[in-house]
Amino acid sequence: MINGKIDLRSDTVTVPTDEMRQAMCTAVVGDDVYGDDVTMNELEALAAEMMGKEAGLFVPSGVMGNQLALFTHANRGDEVILPDNCHIISHEAGAAAIIAGVQLRTIQNVAGEMPLDILESYIRKDANDIHQPKTALITYENADSDGQVRDLAYMKNVKALAYKYHLPIHLDGARIFNAATYLGVDVKEMTQYVDTISVCLSKGLCAPIGSILVGSAEFIAQARRKRKIIGGGMRQVGILAAAGKIALTEMTKRLQQDHDNAAYMVEKMQEIKGIEVLAERQQISMVFFRLQDYPLTSAELVSYLAKHDVVINGEDNGVMRFVTHKYVSKEEIDKVVDLMKQVK
Ligand SMILES: *Cc1c(COP(=O)(O)O)cnc(C)c1O
Repeated sequence: MINGKIDLRSDTVTVPTDEMRQAMCTAVVGDDVYGDDVTMNELEALAAEMMGKEAGLFVPSGVMGNQLALFTHANRGDEVILPDNCHIISHEAGAAAIIAGVQLRTIQNVAGEMPLDILESYIRKDANDIHQPKTALITYENADSDGQVRDLAYMKNVKALAYKYHLPIHLDGARIFNAATYLGVDVKEMTQYVDTISVCLSKGLCAPIGSILVGSAEFIAQARRKRKIIGGGMRQVGILAAAGKIALTEMTKRLQQDHDNAAYMVEKMQEIKGIEVLAERQQISMVFFRLQDYPLTSAELVSYLAKHDVVINGEDNGVMRFVTHKYVSKEEIDKVVDLMKQVK
């Protein structure tokens, strides 16, 4: 429960834990633009170390993490190759055109992946052709916005291709720790196949605010300057870093519980008449389903559950999504499923 409600809209609704609030209260802070915030320096170093990169940079949102990656890896007019349904395309309000000024070249996903032959064919090969833009970057997500996880073999193949053409890869790893938990690997097993990663601290990891961008020391030094350009230089931000440190050290260890609860929810929801649960799509903390012959429409279900203090989102292209997180217990899942069964 969060503030008396069962909230299944997203893992972004999670609030800081008591331990985080304590740490935030007592954090040693300083002016981070001067590099004086000890707690922030610790968080950035910790994130870099955990992900096997040289340096880290705190940003207030995942969107800023991704956009800074584009802004730093690419010049204006350069091309960035990415899947057509990714967060940068659909959920960042066209920022890439405004901030980095890049040309986005999208590839249609097949079973969640950019097919490697198409990816290779999209890379611009003739640097001397004055007509062609230059390919500057490949970027994709893991886990992706649909809660699907790319395996290590795919990541390795993309890396081999990028290496062949001397291109960097940025991973939108908003939920990379969920992906690593699903794959049962240390997150470094994944990050070895990409150059920069943006990871959200404020989703399933429960920090109130923030993401971290990691990469080489040189890349992060450039990104730090670009963060200043877009107004992201912050002062006593160790208040947030204190929570972020706990997100990385403690909360990454409990994600399996959210995944198990999502699997439990899939199982229970299969008992509800008129609901088609997309069981094969449950890999991390997300449960997907369709209303088939259910007595309520999506909008009616939203308002029916709201009356019982259960908050959910409506359908997106006919598919509904529930997300489990630290503040959704098994008992609460039972309650939601019972409420849904009671509808006649
Ligand atoms: C949440 C998310 C982001 C970051 O979004 P913010 O709203 O800025 O936190 C980026 N990429 C993916 C795939 C996400 O799920």
